[in-house]
Amino acid sequence: SKPIVAIVGRPNVGKSTLFNALAGEKISIVKDTPGVTRDRIYAEVTWLDKTFTMIDTGGIEPESNDVILSQMREQAQIAIDTADVIIFMTDVRQGLVDADSKVADMLRRSKKPVVLVVNKVDSFQKFMMDTYEFYNLGIGEPVPISAASMLGLGDMLEKVVEHF
Ligand code: GDP
Ligand code: MG
Repeated sequence: SKPIVAIVGRPNVGKSTLFNALAGEKISIVKDTPGVTRDRIYAEVTWLDKTFTMIDTGGIEPESNDVILSQMREQAQIAIDTADVIIFMTDVRQGLVDADSKVADMLRRSKKPVVLVVNKVDSFQKFMMDTYEFYNLGIGEPVPISAASMLGLGDMLEKVVEHF
């Protein structure tokens, strides 16, 4: 069967935007009305000669940081249990936050292959320097992308399919 790639990360980092960009259609709801996003959404993606199943771990948009963290942990655990490769997405504009570090620890301990992605790098000139702080997560080299502008997706996918 096909490899499974799961996207995890905090609400609003751009998971569904990336998912839709790779799926080539709007399957996942972006910037949802709270409560609308379903729990998990699947799409088949083909890139070059590789095909994989992609999972967007959506979930409702929680109100408090505690709920965000517990929901992220739950999503990360689902990814750890089911995925062959995990895309861990962060947001250069919000910067590195505590919940990112906690989930990164969890992913590191799982020993699953993780590709660390820093989204919303819409201008490499403007935001490239800010991606370096994400090295501090200790889960590898941050890959800058702009899901909205579809920048850096080839470099990201190259790192993903390396693990198949
Ligand atoms: P999710 O909650 O992680 O699934 O995030 P969404 O995909 O719903 O995106 C949250 C918000 O970030 C939306 O307003 C998107 O349009 C915006 N967004 C997503 N990707 C990018 C990007 O590359 N650049 C910028 N500037 N905004 C983005
Ligand atoms: Mg979403």
